[in-house]
Amino acid sequence: MTEALAERLHPGTIQLAHRVTAIEVTEQVELTMEQSGSRFRQTFDHVIVTLPPRLSGLIQWRPALPESVHDQLRTTPTWMAGKAKVVAVYDTPFWRQSGRSGFATSWSGVLQEIHDASPPTGPGALFGFFRLTATERATLGETAVKRQVIEQLIRLFGEEAGHPIAVLYQDWAK
Ligand SMILES: Cc1cc2nc3c(=O)[nH]c(=O)nc-3n(C[C@H](O)[C@H](O)[C@H](O)COP(=O)(O)OP(=O)(O)OC[C@H]3O[C@@H](n4cnc5c(N)ncnc54)[C@H](O)[C@@H]3O)c2cc1C
Repeated sequence: MTEALAERLHPGTIQLAHRVTAIEVTEQVELTMEQSGSRFRQTFDHVIVTLPPRLSGLIQWRPALPESVHDQLRTTPTWMAGKAKVVAVYDTPFWRQSGRSGFATSWSGVLQEIHDASPPTGPGALFGFFRLTATERATLGETAVKRQVIEQLIRLFGEEAGHPIAVLYQDWAK
């Protein structure tokens, strides 16, 4: 989708890997940017900032943002920044053979939300969002987290869930 949208823009409109370090508003707006260690400035008529709000503190604003706005941006959490995801991969989506959907919601297991994430053909995959907080996951450690994930999947989907061919774990809080 992003590529289709980008194709409608004039060539050169999108400049990836350019980090904005300062925004100065006069009659126009001057951005200071860094790319591969070099710093340069460019002037625009308008600027729309779509950073995660709390990153706005890393930008020098001239004139400075009002303190109340700055505080509000700094204390706005990044949605889902503390989350982790896990995918348990199996030879087949075995749960379907017993009429199970692969979907689950739990308020007691380590995973809170589980989905069937299998491709249309071939292997099976169960995907989960954690109920555990980032601190709880860090305290348990990756090995224990993965073990508890599989134990929960066994409780929900049966013994076959105990034999994944891979358990892919990504803790985004890190
Ligand atoms: C772990 C995790 C899992 C998620 N899972 C899902 C999901 O399953 N489904 C779903 O719908 N949503 C999910 N989300 C939410 C989704 O990713 C966000 O809502 C969405 O990406 C927000 O888009 P955005 O454009 O506001 O910000 P971002 O995607 O964060 O884009 C901001 C951009 O600004 C750039 N940037 C930062 N600083 C500067 C700077 N100084 N100069 C220039 N550029 C800068 C960043 O590199 C980034 O590209 C997830 C988020 C996280 C963190």
